[in-house]
Amino acid sequence: LPQASPALRPCVPGLMHHRQVQRALRALTIPLERLHIMKGHMMQAMRRGLGRHTHSQATLKMLPTYICATPDGTEKGDFLVVELRQSQVRTLLVTLSGDGNLNPQMMYKTFEMPEDIMKGEGEALFDFIAQCLSQFLANTDRSPEHIPLGFVFPFSCRQTQLNKAELISWSKGFSCRDVEGKDVVQLLQTAINKQELSHVEVVALMNDTVGTMMTCSTEGRPCEVALVADKGSNCCFMAEAHLVETTEETSGRMCINTEWGRFGDDGILNDILTPYDECVDEESFRPGQKRFEKMVGSLYLGEITRHVLIALAAEKALFTGSSVAVLKEKGVLKTHQVLEIINVEEGMAVTKSALEALGLQANERDCSRVQQICRAVVSRAATLYATGLSAVLSYMCQTRDMDQLLVNVGVDGELYQGHTRFEEILQSVTKLLAPECVATLLPSTDGSGRGAAMVTAVAVRLEAQRRQVAELLAPLRLNHDDLVQVQALMRQEMELGLGQETHANASVRMLPTYVCHTPDGTELGEFLALDLGGTNFRVLVVKVTDEGIRMASEIYVIPTAIMQGTGEALFDHIIDCIMDFQEKQDLMTHTLPLGFTFSFPCQQVGLDKALLLTWTKGFSASGCVGQDVVQLLREAAERKHHAGLKVVALVNDTVGTMMSCGYEDPKCEIGLIVGTGTNACYMEEMRNVGTVEGDEGRMCINMEWGAFGDNGCLDHIFTSFDRVVDDQTINPGKQRFEKLISGMYLGEIVRHILLAMADKELLFHGNPSPKLYTKDIFKTKFLSTIELNGLALRQIRQILQDLELNASFEDSVLMREVCHTVSMRAAQLCAAGMAAVVEKMRENRGLDKLSVTVGVDGTLYKLHPNFSNCLQKTLQDLAPNCTVTFMPSEDGSGKGAALVAAVACRKTSPGQ
Ligand code: ADP
Ligand code: MG
Repeated sequence: LPQASPALRPCVPGLMHHRQVQRALRALTIPLERLHIMKGHMMQAMRRGLGRHTHSQATLKMLPTYICATPDGTEKGDFLVVELRQSQVRTLLVTLSGDGNLNPQMMYKTFEMPEDIMKGEGEALFDFIAQCLSQFLANTDRSPEHIPLGFVFPFSCRQTQLNKAELISWSKGFSCRDVEGKDVVQLLQTAINKQELSHVEVVALMNDTVGTMMTCSTEGRPCEVALVADKGSNCCFMAEAHLVETTEETSGRMCINTEWGRFGDDGILNDILTPYDECVDEESFRPGQKRFEKMVGSLYLGEITRHVLIALAAEKALFTGSSVAVLKEKGVLKTHQVLEIINVEEGMAVTKSALEALGLQANERDCSRVQQICRAVVSRAATLYATGLSAVLSYMCQTRDMDQLLVNVGVDGELYQGHTRFEEILQSVTKLLAPECVATLLPSTDGSGRGAAMVTAVAVRLEAQRRQVAELLAPLRLNHDDLVQVQALMRQEMELGLGQETHANASVRMLPTYVCHTPDGTELGEFLALDLGGTNFRVLVVKVTDEGIRMASEIYVIPTAIMQGTGEALFDHIIDCIMDFQEKQDLMTHTLPLGFTFSFPCQQVGLDKALLLTWTKGFSASGCVGQDVVQLLREAAERKHHAGLKVVALVNDTVGTMMSCGYEDPKCEIGLIVGTGTNACYMEEMRNVGTVEGDEGRMCINMEWGAFGDNGCLDHIFTSFDRVVDDQTINPGKQRFEKLISGMYLGEIVRHILLAMADKELLFHGNPSPKLYTKDIFKTKFLSTIELNGLALRQIRQILQDLELNASFEDSVLMREVCHTVSMRAAQLCAAGMAAVVEKMRENRGLDKLSVTVGVDGTLYKLHPNFSNCLQKTLQDLAPNCTVTFMPSEDGSGKGAALVAAVACRKTSPGQ
């Protein structure tokens, strides 16, 4: 066999073992595709950790911290921090001046802790901490005024509030008795009080990770992620609160402590673990646990390197000829040495001396191989950090429904600070794995000290803000007794409205409609219908057949000039629209019975005779009030020479709604509208209707409940906001109940509250956009969007942008609370009114239990996410003996008007 040429044959002994070195380096290198997969697993683990049902089994604990905001720079005042460390207690006094937190003034002192305290009685530990505080404060000359304190307690806790946390178990060499399972905030406060320091209030407890996040916000870009790359490894970030199913909080965000060191404990990292990792794990305190941390924590990088060296030496790829027995000893190679070896310019020299210090004889080749290995170990750690970070960033971006996430990431720990190689890899790999996120990594300074003070300051700021907000909103919050009283007042006004003598002065007019029967399903025929008084003016043709109801309709515009011009012009316009419609529908030659839905308060004297009492909802056409509306329509028809018009019924929209639902459900004997305005009608006993002759049977009563309170009986529940809104309407002092409930006003109420909050600097940094001062700019439909569960952030941002509001995310949380308060009050008041109605019907009929259906129409009722739920819940509470079903009507005003006409053609009403 020919000899291989010397050039091809590895004749240098070192090169012969080049392969082993390469193999080790390859094992420590994770391919990009694998990192992508790992990122996916990490996100999955995060979701499991946050899920209500998956949490207990999850590897990532995703602990809620109850920290719900990051600093905004306005934090001000003195804050104390006490930090429990390994064998030390550190105390700090931080003074923030409200200037953006740029240069806080700090004083601190570290106290050594006697070892027996760490393993002694719990009480002794907390007494010691309190004594440290007392001694520290004595040296600050600070007068004994109230001062908030943040407690940095880096142990595993079950936290249920920012200042309530039960210790789950000690670690890090601590084992004090009688502390596990107890609230450590309470224990510390008790010890503090014993030192006669009761002016010191423990307001926040936190892990050391979260403080890191608090020191890295910059102008316009909050820091919402923190990495700790130290002995251990951890990450926290601001998660959408509604996704944190382990807490009750649903609004805004909350800082989540991922405890990601445990990632991989379920075996998901097994295929990237090297034999060296296995050795490190076997020799560790708790084998099988914290697998991720053991690949990246600085407690382990030296160890991983040591095991690579052992393996390569055994394969004769390193240190040939010298004894490597020294490497067998755990901990001889320190992480800081590994970092020095890769970091310094003259790494060779450092490597050589480091190895020699261990008693290892290293030639130049050994040194260069050791260097390569150190680099690989550190690079892998940085790559894994980047993978975890990219999972967190992508998760944030996804759950916030954003295309791009701009965020600062605070980083702390010995691996990061000053180690450019680690930094560079972390930066570039994160970008590669989460390209949709622009993360600026910033070194955190003293997260557990200054950061803890920030947490405390933010907590204090939020608490003060919450108190002020609660005070401002308190008048809008009605309790059960308030509602019972409103119900009783409504009942009283109903009686007054029905009584012959009292009717004229009642705020609830209880107008007879001359509709005495709900449909029975046998109605037939073809009808015209008009719908005036809603958002749109419409003309319809309705065909009622055995198979059901078919309709065609057309929307017409009524220009404001006509709404507020003369009555003649208004009714002429209406006839024009009818004629146009009949032409389009090819109905010019037909004379069809017409039902006219006219949603304004009328004194009805017959089914087709109704005197307009007053305009509402922005109408003010002259010469109409006091006139018979049907007659006005007929006169206009004459003027326009339209002969084929046969008006048989004038119908209020509430009645139309009741009738259209009644066609489907015979139990439907109530109609309710919650749209632009609000109103209700129901079937009352004729014997109770003092304003119409006759005692037999029933008649539908159009309550006109929107005017409830116009006589002053609700004055005690009106707030200053309601009064301002009322003042700026075209009918001040009128329709007071409606102005608390309906779509035309809720947005305005919210707008005035927002302005008041901005004025108190509770919102928008005290500077609302000029636009917010514009009447009606805040639409009631915004309430629906903003209140939607899980903050539909993209839409909310759109609303805020349209209003030119520069709202922080905390602002939007507050806005949500305002909207919720206003819409809940509306729904509750509506329920109180409805409770009066159903209870009266039940009593009328002498029943213990009443089962009844309400036909409902109105966009606010139909589209608001919580209104109908709250209405029904409150009603059940206020009228427990009534089972009330709500049935949304489909085009009640159109269909209903036709059905009234149909029922009228079928039967003759009494009282005429
Ligand atoms: P009308 O009562 O005039 O017949 P609607 O029932 O359609 O008309 O109600 C219109 C009112 O509904 C508007 O005043 C508006 O404030 C309100 N509105 C419109 N969209 C929404 C929405 N998405 N959520 C809540 N309210 C809405
Ligand atoms: Mg309507």
